[in-house]
Amino acid sequence: MPLKSKLKVLITGGAGYIGSHVVKALGEDGHEVAVFDNLTSGNREAVLHGELIVADLLDRDALRKAMADFKPNAVMHFAAHIIVPESVKDPLKYYRNNTGATIDLLDAIQEADVRLFVFSSSAAVYGNPETAPVSENAPLMPINPYGTTKMINELMLRDLSLADAGFRYVSLRYFNVAGADAQRRIGQSYKHPTHLITRALKTAKGESPKLEIFGTDYPTFDGTCIRDYVHVDDLAAAHLDALRYLGEGGSSNVFNCGYGHGYSVREVVAAAKKITNIDFCTEETGRRKGDAAVLVADNTKIRETLGWEPRFDDLDYILKTAWDWEIKAG
Ligand code: UDP
Repeated sequence: MPLKSKLKVLITGGAGYIGSHVVKALGEDGHEVAVFDNLTSGNREAVLHGELIVADLLDRDALRKAMADFKPNAVMHFAAHIIVPESVKDPLKYYRNNTGATIDLLDAIQEADVRLFVFSSSAAVYGNPETAPVSENAPLMPINPYGTTKMINELMLRDLSLADAGFRYVSLRYFNVAGADAQRRIGQSYKHPTHLITRALKTAKGESPKLEIFGTDYPTFDGTCIRDYVHVDDLAAAHLDALRYLGEGGSSNVFNCGYGHGYSVREVVAAAKKITNIDFCTEETGRRKGDAAVLVADNTKIRETLGWEPRFDDLDYILKTAWDWEIKAG
């Protein structure tokens, strides 16, 4: 559903995978957008609408200038490092870039009197949840530094909204985001992809000799981890729903964003082989550090409160759009 009033939205990390799909959705809905991105993992060509400001979030002057020049009504914050195993190896990089930079951003927002904020959080805040599906009320017990940075940011946002009644935010806890724009304009293009679907497709393409399956002794029906894979365009739509909710006076809130059911690593591999029609090589190896056994969203709250209605709850469609994008990327 389109937003009633048109907004000016500043998007950190808007040249990245998820951010660029949100920029596309906002632009198509007639909003004015400005992207703030240092292009370390984002791409200039991925910004389909609005102005691109190439700068680092840790550059406070650039941040202040962007706020003063663009004068946003709302900020959406995607810029972050997102690789779980890397966060385990180099935690300070994650605390600096994900938590430190968010403090600077919130400072700049306060100074510029921006009242509405949407934050990219993650199911990683739950750690190894006791329940599947997991609801927003489950305890936050991240098991890797990446998840901890997302949890700390959520707590900062909560405290800031309590201290400043005019500041309202929505935090969206993403489950496993995958897929690409159906018109193949944008998609995932990390230099060193670590995510299962991208790695599986790159293996099918012959860029890697085999796909490793990390751990076959998890307490799941086939021994491999289960994840809730959500199409990036459905996730992007959730951001517009969040903005509408805030624009209509909704109070600060946290929502899971996933379909409510999951697939095992083996099931994803089988589906990837079917969609690509390539029987690529796999190897079962040990567990990867920091991985939870099962992460599946209870999405009751986002459906009921934000009116989010997913359109692409279909693993084959997710894989097909991701595969088409991979092929185009060459
Ligand atoms: N995985 C795997 N091989 C890979 C990449 C990932 O077996 O090359 C597994 C990983 O251990 C996890 C699941 O796939 O159980 C999803 O991992 P991904 O990195 O895609 O997302 P995460 O859940 O860590 O955010």
